[in-house]
Amino acid sequence: MINVGMVEPVRLNLKSKFKFMCHKGIGCFTRCCGSTDILLTPYDVVRIKNRLGISSSEFLKQYTTIQIDENSKHPNVILKMGQEGQRRCPFVTEEGCTIYEDRPTNCRYYPLGQAIMRVQKENKIVNEEFYFLIKDENCLGYSEDREWTVEEWRIDQGADIYDEMNKEWKEIQLRRDPQGESMDETKQKLFYMASYDLDAFRKFLRATNVLDFFEIDNRELEDIQTDEIALMRFAFKYLKYIFMLEETLKLKEEYKEKFLKAYQSKGN
Ligand code: SF4
Ligand code: SF4
Repeated sequence: MINVGMVEPVRLNLKSKFKFMCHKGIGCFTRCCGSTDILLTPYDVVRIKNRLGISSSEFLKQYTTIQIDENSKHPNVILKMGQEGQRRCPFVTEEGCTIYEDRPTNCRYYPLGQAIMRVQKENKIVNEEFYFLIKDENCLGYSEDREWTVEEWRIDQGADIYDEMNKEWKEIQLRRDPQGESMDETKQKLFYMASYDLDAFRKFLRATNVLDFFEIDNRELEDIQTDEIALMRFAFKYLKYIFMLEETLKLKEEYKEKFLKAYQSKGN
C-alpha cells in the first residue's frame, strides 16, 4: 500500500492530524496493492516468512528482488510484484491482504510516508524523523471523515512496534550513508545475510563459531540460539561492529588476531 502518486512536501510530526480511512467496502479496495516498490525491513521478513511457514532464504528467493542503493551500495530487499499487467502484490486477493496481521511496515504506514535524516544541531549530529502524506489520486481513503494524529495512526496500525524492532538496523543505514563510503561485495553479502536472511545468518554463526570470538554472557548466548528476535538483534550488533560504527561487541583477547586477520584478508 505505498503506491506513491505525489509526495506532499509538508512535514508532519507525531501530533499532526490528517483524515483517512481504509475499509473493505470502499470503492478502491486493494487498488493500491500493486505496481509499487515495497521496501522490506528485517523485521518485515521475519514476520512474513513465519506467516508463510518457510525459511528466510526461501522467502527471499521466491518473493523478493534486490535493489542496490546507488550511493551507499546497501542491498535493499523489495517485494516482488506479479509480472502480469497490473503487477499485483503476491499477497492480495479480492478479499484483501492475506498476510494482513503480518503486512510490511510500509503497508502499515500508508497513507503516511516516513523519512529519517541525519542533521547537525548545535555541533551534534542527530536523527531527524518526520512524516508526510502520500497523495495517491486513486485512493478514496482521504475523503473519509475519520481524523487521526500521526501517533494514533502508527499505534493503530502496529507500525510503532515495527519501528522499534528495526531501530538499530535503521541506525546502521543512516550512519553509513552520509560517510559516502561504498560497500564492497563481501560487505554487501554480509549486510544482506545479517539483515534479511536470518536462517542463513544462524548457519553462518554455527559454521564459523563467530559467537565464540566475543564476550557474550550465557543468557544472551542462549537467547541468540533459541529466540529469532534475539538472533536478529545480535545480527544488528554484529553489523555495527563489522562496519566499525560502534564497539557493540567485545572480542576475546585470544581471538583478536585471528578475527582481524580474517577480515583484513578480505579487504575489510
Ligand atoms: S482506501 Fe486507499 S489504502 Fe485503502 S484500499 Fe483504497 S487505495 Fe488502498
Ligand atoms: S502486503 Fe498486503 S497490504 Fe501490502 S501491498 Fe501486499 S496485499 Fe497490500
